[in-house]
Amino acid sequence: MTYEALLKIAYKKTNTHNKEEEAAKLLLMELSNQEPHQFFTNLKSEVPKTLEIDFLNKLDQYLVSNIPVQHLIGHSYFYGYKFKVNQHVLIPRGETEQLVEHVLYYYDKYFIDQKIIVLDLGTGSGCIGIALSLEEENMNVTVSDISEEALKVAKDNQHDLKANVKIIQSDLFENISDAFDIIVSNPPYIPDTESVQDIVSKEPKVALYGGLLGVDFYEKIITNSKNHLKEHSLIAFEHGFQQKQRIFEIAKKHFPNAHIVQVKDLAGKDRFTFIGLGNVLDLE
Ligand code: GLN
Repeated sequence: MTYEALLKIAYKKTNTHNKEEEAAKLLLMELSNQEPHQFFTNLKSEVPKTLEIDFLNKLDQYLVSNIPVQHLIGHSYFYGYKFKVNQHVLIPRGETEQLVEHVLYYYDKYFIDQKIIVLDLGTGSGCIGIALSLEEENMNVTVSDISEEALKVAKDNQHDLKANVKIIQSDLFENISDAFDIIVSNPPYIPDTESVQDIVSKEPKVALYGGLLGVDFYEKIITNSKNHLKEHSLIAFEHGFQQKQRIFEIAKKHFPNAHIVQVKDLAGKDRFTFIGLGNVLDLE
């Protein structure tokens, strides 16, 4: 059977299950170890039988058991880098790439050419901290997480991507002593009572849920961050689209003189809060 014919069968299945054709295409492309341009020029060639069987089997796991395709292929892409993922970490999201973009932008505006230290709290796969350290060599990055299993994944990613980041196991600031120039975090922010799609439920609960209103981690991080921030410094958060106001209030309460900037994601949803201390963000 050709790749084209196999995809046709796969698309029929995805449509009956109300799932995404794109996911099936990605799965086949990744399992065949081809780059996109090769894959599309080879559509009329024959699929090796073992690959066909493996693909249909994994496709069923996606369609019937709701296993995310990224878990089936074992990796995902973030900021142009290939990150290993598994059931112990959140699959990196597109919004989080925008968080990285904003942090790099603020670095250029407020810290340019300075060697700074950065903390990525609740790093999961390591995606935020590793991407930052690869993009900006002046950033000396520490990544931390409460989950040992997640940190194993972060360690593999650090190794595979040759990133120079320090990895610390810590429940928020528990094992962290430094004061940082930038603290960045995309903590779990789904309210405990909210239900998620079946496919999201295959990701670790510890990475998804953030208390009754979903703001517990922001509150804990802000409340405990004072001794971990330099005089001129930045906190950069990703959050849920209904949490903008609450996070603003928590930040104002603990840092009455901070410059607070809140930004929407590309889908137009309130998604990021930046808290600047000292002169950071004073030009916004
Ligand atoms: N910081 C990681 C990410 O953005 C993990 C986030 C989480 O587990 N909530 O993917």
